[in-house]
Amino acid sequence: MKNKITIGIVGGGVAGLVFANFLKDSSRFKIKIFEKKEFTIKPATGIQISNNARRILNKINFNQIDTGKFSEVHKVNIFQYENKNKIAELNINYFNNDKEEYVSLDRNHLITFLLSELKKKIEVYHEEVISIQNNTIHCSNKLDEKFDVIIVADGIFSRFGNKAWENSLKKINALAYRGVIRGYDSGTTKNVDLFLGNNRHFVFYPINKCGDFSFTSIFASNSNSLSSDYSSASSSEELLGISSNANDEIKKIISSASNVYKWPIYHRPTINFGQDQVFIIGDASHAMPPFHAQGAAQAIEDSFCLAQMFEKNILNISHFKSIRASRVEMISSKSYRNLFIYHLSNSFLKTVRNVLIKIICKYPMISKFYFGKIYNYKFKN
Ligand SMILES: Cc1cc2nc3c(=O)[nH]c(=O)nc-3n(C[C@H](O)[C@H](O)[C@H](O)COP(=O)(O)OP(=O)(O)OC[C@H]3O[C@@H](n4cnc5c(N)ncnc54)[C@H](O)[C@@H]3O)c2cc1C
Repeated sequence: MKNKITIGIVGGGVAGLVFANFLKDSSRFKIKIFEKKEFTIKPATGIQISNNARRILNKINFNQIDTGKFSEVHKVNIFQYENKNKIAELNINYFNNDKEEYVSLDRNHLITFLLSELKKKIEVYHEEVISIQNNTIHCSNKLDEKFDVIIVADGIFSRFGNKAWENSLKKINALAYRGVIRGYDSGTTKNVDLFLGNNRHFVFYPINKCGDFSFTSIFASNSNSLSSDYSSASSSEELLGISSNANDEIKKIISSASNVYKWPIYHRPTINFGQDQVFIIGDASHAMPPFHAQGAAQAIEDSFCLAQMFEKNILNISHFKSIRASRVEMISSKSYRNLFIYHLSNSFLKTVRNVLIKIICKYPMISKFYFGKIYNYKFKN
């Protein structure tokens, strides 16, 4: 009998786990995941799973999880940051086909779901990978293991491309404060609320059906004072202190948070899908700013697409690139552009922006054209 193809996955985040889920039942592959941390993170953070990502997750039974663990998003309400005047509302139902709704949830629930089937079938090794050479993974405990194929899915600070590419990761002029609030009475909010202000914006959405919400407050900033461990502890007092011109709703949300963390925002404009038999996916390949909520969605698309290739016995990086590069580039540059669009402070430009947003949201054909490119995307099997 032919030997199995051995696959080593570096990183058990969204990209690595989704990829493993798609190949877990195949008798042709033997998979091992290397993850340096605990899978679930504290404190919790929210994540939006748009229709394009949901469609893929449904193929690995996401549509069978307890519906109380996520919240369906029907629209995105866009407000002025300072006074909560409504600018427009984007109807997400245009993209919400049966069981393919845009959802928001606690990231830990997504990871728990991805792990639920894997552990029985795939070896998981809790160790930090130090280097990859000649298809061999070297770990911090000096363990070396050779694989036929390696999938690098180690996230935004990936160390396993070439040096020039590693140095292309840029901290952009923005800082995110994130928090989760429990048992919050939000009135009617069951959707994504987006508040646009001068050099700042604020995003608020439910992460389940029990009254728990996630918020992200993004400010223009060139702060370099954050820890190298990505997120640093902050507080609702610190965040309130820099949110003095926010409307009362935002202030109430921030005041209700028990834990607030801050994160610098990064962008890697140069995409690297790997070389030879080492494939790079997710944030490791193309870290993009979170201003279209598409980072995890693109990691999920990469994973699915690569797993499909492997099932068809196509272990070829040029092929992967030809399928993924233009889409990832398009979404990454749209995400980057949103920082400038959301943060405009010139009154004239803001008026023009708001009129354009109203037009895009008001006419279904324009909404579907503009956002359909992202949310309606379907892979051919
Ligand atoms: C403020 C903010 C809000 C966001 N909101 C959204 C959203 O709503 N929707 C969305 O789609 N995306 C969102 N994103 C982006 C999303 O979180 C990422 O794109 C996604 O997590 C990328 O998945 P990944 O698997 O590539 O990387 P990660 O999820 O970062 O996983 C990488 C894994 O590799 C492990 N690892 C790293 N180095 C090593 C090593 N040397 N050895 C072993 N293991 C290692 C890490 O511990 C980690 O578990 C947001 C990002 C930010 C910053």
